[in-house]
Amino acid sequence: MPKLLVAPSMGCCDPYDFAHQVSFIDRHADFLHIDVKDGNYVKTFGVGPDFMDVLRRGGAKTPMDAHLMVAHPQDFIEACAEAGATYITPHTDCIESDAFVTINRIISLGCKAGIAMNPAAPLAAIRYYLPLLSKVTIMIVDAGYAGQKVIEPMYDKIRELARMRAEMGLSFLIEADGSMNAGVYKPLYEAGADVVVAGPPALWNKDADIERAWATMESEIEGELADATR
Ligand code: MG
Repeated sequence: MPKLLVAPSMGCCDPYDFAHQVSFIDRHADFLHIDVKDGNYVKTFGVGPDFMDVLRRGGAKTPMDAHLMVAHPQDFIEACAEAGATYITPHTDCIESDAFVTINRIISLGCKAGIAMNPAAPLAAIRYYLPLLSKVTIMIVDAGYAGQKVIEPMYDKIRELARMRAEMGLSFLIEADGSMNAGVYKPLYEAGADVVVAGPPALWNKDADIERAWATMESEIEGELADATR
């Protein structure tokens, strides 16, 4: 049975039902995705590194991934590691001048290094440091804007990345992030994605009750993967 791992964006949890949603998602998700936004690299705000500390203190055990949509991710790496991040994932264009220093810093703090790429960022940008990475996040819409339509050439980008991974003999995870919902699970899986990031359209908007919302999302994913091949 094919499987897509699911990483819900935990900043989307309903603050009026927060502890319950965190505890339910922690028992069901494969990763907890933390969208850190600074209002600068993207023009919206997200949660910060201290949010991961809140989740841990609430008992969350699932590995957390800090997706750093911030102009200067280098300034937040220590705080993310201290707050308990398993993965730290900056954007390609924010570490262009110090990619190896930044990635090695993440690894030296005991975390796994990820990289996130906006739709316009070319795969060639990450080629030389791919062997250091544990995960590559392909944004299938521009980071930081809700409600966009999936940019379909991103399926080809994922396919190309999966080919690079096989050719280079590497084993990093391929994650898709942005406007996740029914209809894209099958093409993402067939292209080579291992993980999908679930935001409100994929999960929370399905039902006010998180158990029912999760069941709906799960059956949509299972339905689409039932006849998927790769
Ligand atoms: Mg994200």
